[in-house]
Amino acid sequence: IDYTVERGWHDATVSAYGPLTMDPAAMVLHYGQSIFEGLKAYRHGDGSIASFRPAANAARFRASARRLAMPELPDELFLESIRQLVDVDKAWVPASGGEDSLYIRPFMFATEAGLGVRPAKQYRYMTIASPAGAYFPRGVKPVSVWLSHEYVRAAPGGTGDAKFAGNYAASLLAQAQAAEQGCDQVVWLDAIERRFVEEMGGMNLFFVFGSGSEARLVTPALSGSLLPGITRDSLLQLASDAGFAVEERKISTEEWQKGAETGEITEVFACGTAAVITPVGSVKHADGEFVIAGGEPGEVTMALRDTLTGIQRGTFADTHEWMTRLLPA
Ligand code: PMP
Repeated sequence: IDYTVERGWHDATVSAYGPLTMDPAAMVLHYGQSIFEGLKAYRHGDGSIASFRPAANAARFRASARRLAMPELPDELFLESIRQLVDVDKAWVPASGGEDSLYIRPFMFATEAGLGVRPAKQYRYMTIASPAGAYFPRGVKPVSVWLSHEYVRAAPGGTGDAKFAGNYAASLLAQAQAAEQGCDQVVWLDAIERRFVEEMGGMNLFFVFGSGSEARLVTPALSGSLLPGITRDSLLQLASDAGFAVEERKISTEEWQKGAETGEITEVFACGTAAVITPVGSVKHADGEFVIAGGEPGEVTMALRDTLTGIQRGTFADTHEWMTRLLPA
């Protein structure tokens, strides 16, 4: 779907996957106005295809557009584009039952040709899809993380709470550093004090204090510089449904390390659309490393994972009406 200031959104088309033609002066190539979303479609046991909270992705896409001085795509167009894409690609939606899904990637970028630095007047919105298996090839095995003190992903007043391409570009060097340290993922800290935990590469973080019915969940509060994850929001709800106390607040690296060492923090996990829920087993930083609960996935992590994946695959009651049917059986 194309956008111009004069005409608004127009010319929605479905076309075969292939290269794009772009003007070498297209403003996205120079000034980076590019935002995206990520969501999944699942085939349920009756053959119907549904997606998890696509309206939340549509709303976040509008919020990202506002932050990047781009036009907002109306929710109906966002949702209809996903429905049509899945209709065309339905053969690619994996059979029900397993870990597999169809990953959907809506995105928008500035197509206007121009070298002046200002918001573009012309954009294109597109969506593509790809079948997806488990995000981490080792399955639900805990991942190791690297605390990035040298680089920050986002700063107050910046673009960290938008799903903006540049945030990911800014993260690549630290991600490479994490890999050099033998870690799977980067954990980002706040830009000012480099002390408070923000989020992981493509996931939000949860800390479990205590165990059994006494378990309390803590997740970093939305600071303006971390992405408001839809999985994060859903897990806050599911955890409180399950009777756990939940808190959104600041959590420092000292509190994390001390809590892991004293056993007060019993589990840590990361969550996002791609990886769903992944336990964090060990943490490395410039001055050392520590493990969480012997590096094994914890009970609360696995129980929340079962509930969330059950809702997504249609095997658990969807009490919050989060699944949106895209295609009938
Ligand atoms: N943080 C970042 C930086 C991400 O890219 C993602 C993935 N969209 C998340 C958190 C998790 O968000 P969601 O649960 O909406 O996938």
